[in-house]
Amino acid sequence: MNETTVRFQDDLYEAVNGEWLKTAVIPDDMPMTGGPAELTQGVEKIMMADFKAFAAGEKATDIPEMRYAIDLYRKVLDTDRRDREGVAPVLPLLERLRSINSVEELNGAAAELLFQGVELPVQLDVAADMQDAERHSFAVIGPDVILPDTTYYAEDNDAGKRLLALYADMAAKVLAYTPLSAEEQKQYLDDTLAYDALIAKKVKSQLEWSEYYKCHNPMDLDTVAAYVAPFDLRGLLAALYGEQTPEILIVYDPRAIREINAYFCPENFEKYIHWAYVRTLLRATAYLSEELAALGRSYRRALTGVAADPSLEKQAWQLASRVYSEPVGVYYGRTYFGEEAKKDVVALVQRIIETYKRRMEQNAFLAPETKEQAIRKLSTVETKMGYPDEIKPLWSALRFDEDDSLYEAMRKLNAIRQRDSFDRLHKPVDRTEWVLPGHMVNAGYNPLANDVTFPAGILQKPFYSLEQSVSENLGGIGAVIGHEISHAFDNNGAKFDEHGNLHNWWTESDFAAFEALTKDMIAQFDGIEYHGGRVNGELVVSENIADNGGMGVTLEIMRGLDAPDYPAYFMNWARVWCMKIKEEFIRLQLTNDVHSPNVLRANMQPRNFPEWYEAFGVKEGDGMYLPPEKRISIW
Ligand SMILES: [Zn+2]
Repeated sequence: MNETTVRFQDDLYEAVNGEWLKTAVIPDDMPMTGGPAELTQGVEKIMMADFKAFAAGEKATDIPEMRYAIDLYRKVLDTDRRDREGVAPVLPLLERLRSINSVEELNGAAAELLFQGVELPVQLDVAADMQDAERHSFAVIGPDVILPDTTYYAEDNDAGKRLLALYADMAAKVLAYTPLSAEEQKQYLDDTLAYDALIAKKVKSQLEWSEYYKCHNPMDLDTVAAYVAPFDLRGLLAALYGEQTPEILIVYDPRAIREINAYFCPENFEKYIHWAYVRTLLRATAYLSEELAALGRSYRRALTGVAADPSLEKQAWQLASRVYSEPVGVYYGRTYFGEEAKKDVVALVQRIIETYKRRMEQNAFLAPETKEQAIRKLSTVETKMGYPDEIKPLWSALRFDEDDSLYEAMRKLNAIRQRDSFDRLHKPVDRTEWVLPGHMVNAGYNPLANDVTFPAGILQKPFYSLEQSVSENLGGIGAVIGHEISHAFDNNGAKFDEHGNLHNWWTESDFAAFEALTKDMIAQFDGIEYHGGRVNGELVVSENIADNGGMGVTLEIMRGLDAPDYPAYFMNWARVWCMKIKEEFIRLQLTNDVHSPNVLRANMQPRNFPEWYEAFGVKEGDGMYLPPEKRISIW
């Protein structure tokens, strides 16, 4: 080793990834590269080649739902038509919005506007009920703000001011394409910003949203309707459900709904219409002319530090794979994911769950009855691996007409999805449904179903490969699997039982002990300086608890191996988080992402475990040394 080489003992992330970081180049159309982002680029590359061949008729697939994905892909590429039509496809809807002159008229048009994708004074959703996760409930939610978080609206937040100016600049340029007079354009924009500022005072911050179990606030319809009056919620629900109108609603962010009159009220009605007009127009740009689409992306590009737009072909693939995610994921899985790998990883999940159960039995801070409940929860975790066997009927219902414009096709597709979502209310929750498609490079735990999903997209090197050693795979996909299962016992997941219901299965003292450990984990990360900002320990605590659990359970499996290779384990753990990110995106992540920055994920958790110190002979004085009394292992 020469003196310029970073030592593992001081900075594992840099020692493993330093060479790569020196030369890696972030593609112009991306905010980052490396790790999962690089895998996403790889998936994109092979799938874009396939879509190109499908669209040219050089290749065929036997998945019937893919036909519409390919048609939609073609519509994005049809720039002759998109450029010829310009802003025209969205104008009838915008004119309709302009014709609404009072709250009473809005009430009469609310259902119609909802299916056209216009934002109403409140957002509506149908989702699994947190208290009884086998059935659905109807949710009422406050509106979204323009900036990434309510904290950006603080008087002294310069980033917020800069971003709002960029947003206003974009909106002004797009408004110039409409038939509005110059004076009206200015008024619409001013009102949009004013209405948004009022909303920002009432809706939840990202930190508040991160405690998602607090979304469960059942209220009866009369109470909620009285809050949001004169907006006629009962009338809207009657239009959607007739006699089957739900009488109990779940209010995700009670402050935004109780105090809705601070933004939506008859005096602000015009502001609301102008806000809805501008937001509808900006959202539509993606499906209008190339020029409008590029303008409509400019704010997001600045926000994430992305230098250029993706190629037209990439835009086409991205839209088709997002709208038809399940058929596309099934195609990807069937074509590029092997059965042998699937069996191998399913076995690994089982092994991790069994190891977890043993660790729960030996847990030092849980009473026997709490341990029993935790083990029951582990025993019933369902695993979704690779991609689904079947494509759900919804995907073949997502149709549009061949001669539709791109905008019109998207409008129809959104309306079908909206109807499908509302129609679920009185049906049981379908737990065989997948929330992450097969081509996605991600993994997830669903607390309301107590299941884990590992799409084929993430089951690749360096996370997983049949060619990698067992130790490497444990430091990669193994720790990710352990992470997802740990979400069943993070500060949110711990509130749900084995059925996915919000239900307290803890004794008071056990929960107090867990909360003390949660506080330790918050403190371990809170305030760490990172690229001119600071980590918010509270915002990232659930993911850090999950990383900590994932590492704890896989290191236990390592201890049982014939020839565990601990350095290989930790090096691959650091390798999977390797990433180069644009400065703008880093700042965004610090306020919005519930995950810690990758370098901290790579470097913080190892020091909580004795194996780290043995693997590299880490001693006091080394950069990655933590005294034993400060080390945390929760699960
Ligand atoms: Zn997670």
